[in-house]
Amino acid sequence: MSFDSLGLSPHLLAAIADSGYTQPTPIQSKAIPAVLDNSDVLAAAQTGTGKTAAFVLPILERLGSEKHRNPRVLVLTPTRELAAQVEQSVKTYGAKTQIRSTVVFGGVGYQPQISAFRKGVDIIVATPGRLLDHLQQGNLNLGMLETLVLDEADRMLDMGFINDIKRVLKHIPAKRQTLLFSATFSKDIRKLASTLLNKPVEIDVAPRNATADRIDQKVVMVEKARKRALLSHMISTGNWSQVLVFTRTKHGANRLVKQLEIDGLSASALHGNKSQNARTKALDGFKKGTVRVLVATDIAARGIDIDTLPHVVNYELPNIPEDYVHRIGRTGRAGLEGEAVSLVGPDERKFLKDIEKLIGNQIERIQVEGIDLRAPGKDDEEDEREQQARRPDNDGGQRPPKRGGGGGNGNRGGQGRGNGANRGAPKAEGGAPNNASRRRNPRRGNRGGQRSGGSTPSS
Ligand code: AMP
Repeated sequence: MSFDSLGLSPHLLAAIADSGYTQPTPIQSKAIPAVLDNSDVLAAAQTGTGKTAAFVLPILERLGSEKHRNPRVLVLTPTRELAAQVEQSVKTYGAKTQIRSTVVFGGVGYQPQISAFRKGVDIIVATPGRLLDHLQQGNLNLGMLETLVLDEADRMLDMGFINDIKRVLKHIPAKRQTLLFSATFSKDIRKLASTLLNKPVEIDVAPRNATADRIDQKVVMVEKARKRALLSHMISTGNWSQVLVFTRTKHGANRLVKQLEIDGLSASALHGNKSQNARTKALDGFKKGTVRVLVATDIAARGIDIDTLPHVVNYELPNIPEDYVHRIGRTGRAGLEGEAVSLVGPDERKFLKDIEKLIGNQIERIQVEGIDLRAPGKDDEEDEREQQARRPDNDGGQRPPKRGGGGGNGNRGGQGRGNGANRGAPKAEGGAPNNASRRRNPRRGNRGGQRSGGSTPSS
């Protein structure tokens, strides 16, 4: 099938050609005609399948080139990063139209967003919290809305946005087109769909939870205390220039970044406690190649769209097996090959089993040459102590700078530069999240961070 047969105007076909796409992905060939037909759509499609263009292109087609005073289209996304990326797609594909779009999320000032509304905007891409603030303050009128898109709806439910979504719905017309995209059709998603959608066209492009064939998945069994050394070793010896590393906690992400920097690798953390500016900076640096390692938590990394990301590492396995699928889906995108390596400690075997059950495959176990993966080190004790202390603000001064002595690990080549200096360096970033995580929900953290970030004026 070609894009020509989908009913899109020449200016959109030109934008598609400019993006380098030669043929529609399965979600695009199914969703584009349905959206053009004014149908509601319920689509199971993960990031990486081309789902953004699957709704943005037909929406642009339907809007035509007329400018409107009030918004006609609202796209809700779970994270700021995804909102920014979707809006960027709107701008890219709509470059040859008059259609105006804006992105709305927390963590940045209200005024520029209000100014954009005043000038008139056709498409708004937003996270639910900040959008709701604007609606409640009367900054925005969604009474003329024609199309509502819920992108990554499963993740919005996971993040506790359901009530915000319901509140947003009160501000938009009941008679509208609704498109719901979700990685999976869980029971909760079906329930939400039944309340929001009217006789939807159902599209399921990928076998549920199947991981992309083009992602080369591997597992390295390794003692927890050796993970940092192993990661540095793999990055250095493999000459990896761009690697996305997942940790389970924001605190773990911060700690790993400091450690990698000691090892001489440029690294940044991306998680919900970071200010919007810090997140944008980290992501930009990573895309441009000035930051070699981006260490992220699940939610912050959702929707990161980097076309050519070659390596993803699970520094810790997620305890929710579906998150594994989302994580590794950051690589192997747009038809390119990618590699996803999971570092699995003895205490994570159960998570690995659950993941393998979900994906229906055993992941290949590999050995890594040139490093001892077994020897427990002092990191273990440190980890234990940190787990127990758990008060993030202990991180700064209280840990004795043991590692500077060498710790028997040949990969920590940079110790000579002095742990003290390195540890102290990222003060501003290290301090803010710690304080923030104390204020917010320290349990799984992401939820609190995102929700607050998405909606509170202070964030
Ligand atoms: P998404 O699932 O929307 O996050 O898109 C994943 C990636 O696929 C993005 O980097 C898009 O630029 C790319 N993409 C979208 N549609 C196509 C297509 N028809 N052909 C090739 N790449 C595409």
